Order: sequence, then structure tokens, then C-alpha cells
Amino acid sequence: MAIATVDPATGRTLATFPPLDAQGVEERLRRAAEAFEQYRTSPFDHRAQLLRRAADRLTADREKVAATMVTEMGKPLVQARAEVDKCAKSMHWFADHAAGLLADQIPDAADVADSGAAGVRVRFRPLGPVLAVMPWNFPLWQVIRAAAPALMAGDVLLLKHASNVPRTALYLQELFAHAGYEAGCFQTLLIASGQVAEVIRDDRVAAVTLTGSEGAGQSVATVAGEQLKKCVLELGGSDPFLVLPSADVAKAAQVAVRARVQNNGQSCIAAKRFIVHEAVFAEFERAFVEGMRALRVGNPMDEHTDVGPLATEQGRDELEEQVEDARGKGARVLCGGRRPEGLAEGLGEGWFYEPTVLTDIDPAMRVHHEECFGPVATLYRAADLAEAVAIANDTPYGLSSNAWTRDPGEQGVLARDLQAGGVYFNGMTASHPAFPFGGIKRSGYGRELDGLGIREFTNPTTLWYG
Ligand code: NAP
Repeated sequence: MAIATVDPATGRTLATFPPLDAQGVEERLRRAAEAFEQYRTSPFDHRAQLLRRAADRLTADREKVAATMVTEMGKPLVQARAEVDKCAKSMHWFADHAAGLLADQIPDAADVADSGAAGVRVRFRPLGPVLAVMPWNFPLWQVIRAAAPALMAGDVLLLKHASNVPRTALYLQELFAHAGYEAGCFQTLLIASGQVAEVIRDDRVAAVTLTGSEGAGQSVATVAGEQLKKCVLELGGSDPFLVLPSADVAKAAQVAVRARVQNNGQSCIAAKRFIVHEAVFAEFERAFVEGMRALRVGNPMDEHTDVGPLATEQGRDELEEQVEDARGKGARVLCGGRRPEGLAEGLGEGWFYEPTVLTDIDPAMRVHHEECFGPVATLYRAADLAEAVAIANDTPYGLSSNAWTRDPGEQGVLARDLQAGGVYFNGMTASHPAFPFGGIKRSGYGRELDGLGIREFTNPTTLWYG
């Protein structure tokens, strides 16, 4: 894929960028290694001051960077602004909390005495330059989610961003430079995915974190494994959204719409499979389909738009093929299931797709076991809690999950049995810097955010004093 900004609302190419050659990559690797030697010894206060400055500058650039994201990947402007705010807030959070999250751990005094030591402590030392391979769907947040904790831990970052968001990628490099970081602390590598393996293999790169598809995760994990380098993978998801009889069904349906179509349906933690108890199925179906039909599809720069275009033409082709496969195998299309008509002038060549609800889903359909990365929901009927859990877990993925029930007994069963990195009751999944984030099964491994996330790219070192 060429490194280019192509407006998904019109299909027009706005800018292209040549990839770095071997010498350009080498220069950046050298700079990263040099910067790390200085930066790793900096005190937390200094790191926090830099990160707060970057956060404040990001807030000042809010309108500019939000518009850049919209023209690169098509998310509605209002959601792009919210993404900027979330990033700034999280940067402040890590600036405030990193020293506490990475404070030395002191083992139990009895264990220290048992070891024969006069004292023992565990120190979380930085690892080195970390390569971050990132996707386009939250082009700012995915990067900040990795960068803010890593920079606070004393690591430095090399960003290989998705090829369709080069302007956002270059903005990020400029943001950290203007905040006062040494040039090697945060660098954007405009490279193709085929150049990633060589960067991972370079001795100066200590570890790699990837957010993206399963295929990319496999490639990166293979090279990291061969090099025995630490790797965190945040991959796809097909999160279930369970609605049980004690739920506030009207509210569940309202939130379900938002959970499915946020970011034009292209979110890893979007609820994608809606599994509803038969006692409330008809009520939920009516309200959910009504809500999906009422969404305004159109120009993402318009503040009243709910759903913009898909980010890439290939992404829309893939989604259409999944829907056609389901339709051909007997799924009923309750709404949508096609490209919208009557869009405003100039948007006809954009990659739009109508919010869609499919039901009568069969395990032979692709939508049952694949991730639908766009505004397409699948609706299942379950006879009881056990069947709802069985359908929820019948997926290769395990990122997050949502369950609507006010019954504490059911909540206990779901907290025990749902196979995912998160179970959100009576709400939708949303990440927060203070909670760990990540998945199991084919959604990847490792965690981001919180103390678990910030420690992923550290060297927890046992200091033993005789
Ligand atoms: P993608 O195609 O996997 O791309 C992600 C990044 O990986 C891009 O920078 C891409 O570069 C690079 N890449 C692709 N193939 C590679 C390879 N073989 N070796 C090395 N790097 C490679 O994913 P996407 O389409 O941008 O994002 C959508 C996917 O990400 C969905 O599955 C979504 O669920 C997942 N996601 C997960 C999370 C999470 O936190 N778990 C969050 C957001 C998204 P190029 O652009 O140059 O190909």
C-alpha cells in the first residue's frame, strides 16, 4: 500500500509520501539508540514535565489534528475531537501516575530475611527503543496509548504508522519535538509494512508493540519470536453484547447502536455480536433496528453526521463480501445491507456503507467467526444464560465483552465465564488509562494502560543487598 493521504469521503488522493530508504531508517535507529542512553537516566519529574507539555500542545492543536484525522480515515469530526481530548487526558494521567506505578517493589520482610539479604527491591528499569506498529482506526489514540506510558518508563519510541495516515504520523513526531523531547525520543518511520521485519531484527530495537489485524500480528510476532524480543499484540475483536431479561432494554438498545457504529464501525472493541435472551428479543430487535435506521450517514466533516465512510476501499469491499456471504446462506437483513444512495454531491465516490443488522446467523457464515470491521451488526437469539454465554464464546477472538443484566447471580457467572480481556456490565467497552486493556485468544496478548501496561516495556530488576 502506498504511503498516502486519500480522503475516504471522496476517494481523492491528497498527498503521497516516499518511504524511507535504508539510510533514512539507519539514521533514525542511531538517533533512537543515542537518545535512549540519555533519556533512560532522566528523573520522572523531567519526563512528566515533557509529557504534560506535549499534552497541552495537543489540546491547543485540537481542531487542526481532528480535521487531519477526518481527511485521512473518515471518522466523524465530533469523534475526532473526542479522540484528541482523550489523548491529552491520558498523557496527563501517565505524567501524574507513572512514578507511583513504577515505584520500587519491596518484597515481604519475612521473604527478604529468608533469602539471607539485608534488603531486596524490584526496580522497573526502561528497556530501550520500542517499535510501535499502529493502525489507522484511532490514529492518535493508539499511538498515545503506547507512547505515553513507554516515554514515562524511560523508553524511546519508533512509530511505524498505517500507510493511510502519514500526516497524523508526522504530526505526532512534530508534537513531541515541539514539547522539548530530544529528537530521538519519538520518531516516525515512514516505511512500508515489508520493512518492519528489518527494524525488529536491528539490535538497537529492544521490543515491539503492534495494534492491528491478526495477519500483521502473526508476522510481527514471528520476527519478534525469532529475535527473542518482547512483543505485545492488540489485535482484532468480535465482542459480544448480551442482553438478559433483567436489563433496561430500551437503554441497552440505545447503547448498542453507539457501541456498534462508533468510529464508523471500525473499532476493535466495538460490540459486534448482539446476543439477546428470547424473553426480550422482540423488544430489543425493534429498538435496535430503529436506532440503526435513524443514523445519519454522510460527510464526516459535518458535525451532525453519525456514520462516515469506511477508511479504505478494500475495507468496504471486505465488509460487502461478508454481508453477501451471510445473505447467500440465509441471513435476514433487518436494515441496511447496501451502499447508501442520495449522498451529498461529491461523496458518491466515497466508501460509505449503510448501518446494517443481520439476523438468523448460522455458524457457516463468515460473519459468525470473522470480525466485521464496519457498521454491520449480527443479532442472535438465546434461550437462556448458558446459551448466551456459549454463543458469546464461540469466536476465535477474546478482546472485550458487554453484558446487560441487573441480576448479581448472572453477573457472577458472566464475570467467571466470558472469554475476554474485559466484561462491561450495563454499558459499553471504553478504555481508560487506569484500567488494563487487552485480549486473549486471537485478540492478542499482553496489556496496555494501567500499571500492567506501563510495566510491559520495562526490565523488572531484582536488586539484592547482602
Ligand atoms: P493492519 O492492516 O494489520 O495494519 C496495522 C499496522 O500493521 C499498520 O501499520 C500496517 O502497515 C502494519 N502491517 C500490516 N501488515 C504487516 C506485516 N505483515 N508486517 C508488519 N506490519 C504490518 O490493521 P488495520 O487494518 O490498520 O487495523 C484494523 C485491525 O486492527 C482490526 O482487526 C482491529 O480490530 C485491530 N485493532 C485492534 C485494536 C486493539 O487494541 N486490540 C485497536 C485498534 C484496531 P501498513 O498500513 O503499511 O500495511
